[in-house]
Amino acid sequence: MERTKFLLDENEIPKAWYNIQADLPHPLPPVLHPATGQPIGPQDLAALFPMELIRQEVSQERFIEIPEPVLDIYRLYRPSPLIRARRLEKMLDTPAQIYYKYEGVSPVGSHKLNTALAQAYYNHREGTKRLTTETGAGQWGTALAFACRVFGIECQVYMVKVSYQQKPYRRILMETYGARVIPSPSPETHAGAAMLEQDPECSGSLGLAISEAVEDAVTHQPTTKYSLGSVLNHVLMHQTIIGLEAQKQFEYAGVEPDILVGCVGGGSNFAGFALPFVREKITRGKNTRVIAVEPTAAPSFTQGVYTYDFGDSAQMTPLIKMFTLGSSFVPPPIHAGGLRYHGMAPILCALHAQGYIEACAVPQNAVFAAGVEFARAEGILPAPESAHAIRVAMDLALECRARGEKRVIAFNLSGHGHFDLGGYDAYLRGELPDYTYPREEIARAIARLPRVATG
Ligand SMILES: *Cc1c(COP(=O)(O)O)cnc(C)c1O
Repeated sequence: MERTKFLLDENEIPKAWYNIQADLPHPLPPVLHPATGQPIGPQDLAALFPMELIRQEVSQERFIEIPEPVLDIYRLYRPSPLIRARRLEKMLDTPAQIYYKYEGVSPVGSHKLNTALAQAYYNHREGTKRLTTETGAGQWGTALAFACRVFGIECQVYMVKVSYQQKPYRRILMETYGARVIPSPSPETHAGAAMLEQDPECSGSLGLAISEAVEDAVTHQPTTKYSLGSVLNHVLMHQTIIGLEAQKQFEYAGVEPDILVGCVGGGSNFAGFALPFVREKITRGKNTRVIAVEPTAAPSFTQGVYTYDFGDSAQMTPLIKMFTLGSSFVPPPIHAGGLRYHGMAPILCALHAQGYIEACAVPQNAVFAAGVEFARAEGILPAPESAHAIRVAMDLALECRARGEKRVIAFNLSGHGHFDLGGYDAYLRGELPDYTYPREEIARAIARLPRVATG
């Protein structure tokens, strides 16, 4: 009898996160102050983040211990299962083995709780009373709302307007946990009001919602801080618990993955899954293929430029070197709201520029087709974000069939899609637009990139 699920015991939850900065072949490019063009220091970030997270952001320690109060809540849903997709393999008639790590078992339905709990905990420990944040599809806002509830902090969520309208149930869930949720752009901040004046119909974007949440935190000192659900080094590090567990599970399964696949918005679930394996590529010369999948509607890796840009559209954040479509680019309203971001995590950008990870882009209808096939085979309805990874994992398995190759393909199933039924409904009715590569809008945004001296 062959196994389907690879489960770890609760006492096998990793006790430390993995920090790839200790193993990067070259240090990351510095983050720059927009006014001076000089590298920023810890004090420049102190209004936004607690000191421990600022320390983790630049830490070169290979492992950072997970605090016991965070581990205690991880035990609600971790370790998450590694599952062999036997029925999908059969449906595709492929000689490949397909595995997925399922993060949808978290109480909020996605991987995002892994970092939300850590961030809420450190904020609580350093006296923060209120956290602000943005959310796209609502997954991050939901995770932070619950984490804030756990550690007794108020939570204010700026939700991208198109998602606020498409996904009312996410808002209700956040409010159930006790968060205050408002659609972005909102009239409550200067950044939001300015956008509404320019375009009252603006559907919002993650970049703009970040501007609003940052402005709110900066103007409510010292009690309020800001929390980001992706992109930053410390966020990616908190997510490595996914890949560290998966490594043990593959050991128990007695196989090694040949190809790892994950979807990328800001890059946190993909990084969390893949970075412990990328470590083996850097330090032991392993040749695992590692593939990041993005939507054709927001193709930062495959169509962006690797340069300094702002993390938000109102240009309030420091300048980060990343693959970017230009911070003024507003991606089309695809249902995978968590992937509508103009930039990408600097750690992943450095690894991509150095050839350690590959990237590809897929259009919305092909993604939903994969999500539906996966649900019919395995029963789990994937989040539209996660279905990007499924699309590419399935295409690789079909390639294996054509070539008669027995590869081991593993992907991260970052969350379930129970709040994304509107998107599935549109797909099943044949009413889903594809929003292929918005060439002209991206060219315009790239032309508007800040000019930074990087000598
Ligand atoms: C937010 C989200 C993503 C995209 O964010 P990353 O930081 O790139 O992981 C992907 N999948 C799900 C389920 C999400 O909620």
